[in-house]
Amino acid sequence: MPNTMNFFRFLLAISCTFCISAYSQESKNITLTPKQISSSVWYVEGLTALGSAENKNFISNAAFIVGPDGIVVIDALGSPALAEALISAIGKISPKRINSVIVTHYHADHIYGLQAFQKIGAKIIAHPAAKEYLNSETATQRLSASRVELSPWVDDDTKLIEANSWVSNEVKLNLSGIDLIVKPVGPAHTPEDLVIFFPQDKVLFAGDLLFRGRLPFIGGTADTEPWIQALNSFLDFKATVAIPGHGSVSENATADIELLRDYLTYLRKMMGKAVEELELFDEAYAAIDWRKYENIPMFKFANRMNAYNTYLRLLNPKR
Ligand SMILES: [Zn+2]
Repeated sequence: MPNTMNFFRFLLAISCTFCISAYSQESKNITLTPKQISSSVWYVEGLTALGSAENKNFISNAAFIVGPDGIVVIDALGSPALAEALISAIGKISPKRINSVIVTHYHADHIYGLQAFQKIGAKIIAHPAAKEYLNSETATQRLSASRVELSPWVDDDTKLIEANSWVSNEVKLNLSGIDLIVKPVGPAHTPEDLVIFFPQDKVLFAGDLLFRGRLPFIGGTADTEPWIQALNSFLDFKATVAIPGHGSVSENATADIELLRDYLTYLRKMMGKAVEELELFDEAYAAIDWRKYENIPMFKFANRMNAYNTYLRLLNPKR
């Protein structure tokens, strides 16, 4: 019996060693190729898909600005391995240090990579409303579920990382010699939404307030009224380029901002009418003309949920 036990232990050790080496081998094989979109700005574009082990949770965008005294990164991608791949891709473009990471919001696909940036000494900047999420049961449960669903990319070593400094009002920051405007616009997509404007290159980093080339997800915590206001306020920046949280870069920022604003306005109008007329959601949804939006990617996955969450919020604005 002891021999059998030892044999099992031996098999376990072999298979664990194999797992670890297979994982590290695989993680090293992630290559991200940033696209340059202005003289100082690059970004990587996540896939238009739901997060999965197969796509390594690479479903969100991250961007970076190379400044005179270092590099500022916006968002940290959906796993430590992806963030390491981004750090390595940045290293091929510039030898400068990554000094700061600004988090547009604390959704898993934007933050599970933070620990890789913390490890290299980058300072993390976010909105203080994220603290509520970080200390919530939802965040803990989400991470536990992700450790299973996104294994091996998210595992027991993946941690939720707090910011080093918190920005709660619109501020002008100079980071690594880069002048930026950091503007809180939540609660909209999330309570802790931040957008970042880089006046030198007229680039707006819009986080998940702007989805381009696909419909957004309007989660249970999203509030479309301030979201619409936020999109209107983006127009004041007069950005020529906007990098969304998901989807390709917008080189016609005004038109893309207006398209999303009009979609959210339409959802509110249609769902508002349904609530006012005491219609059941299913009946109201089936009767609405969605033709203007049904060919936009993710319509099938997102639109019904978006409409439902808007309906619930309008039914009970305090939820
Ligand atoms: Zn998000």
